[in-house]
Amino acid sequence: TQFTDLGLPEPILKALAAKNYSTPTPIQLQAIPPLLDGRDLCGIAQTGTGKTAAFALPSLAILASNPKHRPPQGCRMLVLSPTRELASQIAESFVAYGKFLRLSVATVFGGVPINRQIRQLQAGVDILVATPGRLLDLIDQRALSLKNVEIFVLDEADQMLDLGFIHALKRVDQLLPKKRQSLFFSATMPKTIADLGDRFLTDPVKVSV
Ligand code: AMP
Repeated sequence: TQFTDLGLPEPILKALAAKNYSTPTPIQLQAIPPLLDGRDLCGIAQTGTGKTAAFALPSLAILASNPKHRPPQGCRMLVLSPTRELASQIAESFVAYGKFLRLSVATVFGGVPINRQIRQLQAGVDILVATPGRLLDLIDQRALSLKNVEIFVLDEADQMLDLGFIHALKRVDQLLPKKRQSLFFSATMPKTIADLGDRFLTDPVKVSV
């Protein structure tokens, strides 16, 4: 099976060709078709498996197929990452895979001044990659609303809990619209993590690599 068999639109196939990717990894094969169908997904996968493209490619396809104005002080897709390094890498992947699409990508994380991020969000973005603490700071400062989120990704859930983000994640859950597509990834899935996933997911497809 090649990327061309998975139902992805031409601009994304072109971006994959530019990166010389032709064969999907196992998690991409398992995740992309149900995600394109709008299903929720619970994935047990480590970094290095091609997990980022597994969620970025179908999400870009869905957002591009349903063009909407960027919601002012909002986003259409939210990706939560535990660390700023991972957030930056995820955002770079979205930019690379979406380079032939007109979707904007922004990254926000703590440890840097917030004012530039507030200005960046004013006109709204299509895809926002964030760490949980700074995300909530921006929401508390009324610089960001989650009411227009159509697709939500929680990446590296086990690391999120290790870093003490459980309370922040529960708050985010309450601020997200009920009607949305949700994706939940963790390298391990003990009961505490699976229970957290149950909060976010509705009838998810389960994949494990
Ligand atoms: P990730 O697990 O998302 O951190 O991805 C691991 C690495 O594999 C990244 O450098 C990706 O750019 C690369 N990658 C992802 N999917 C593919 C693919 N289908 N073929 C070749 N490389 C890939």
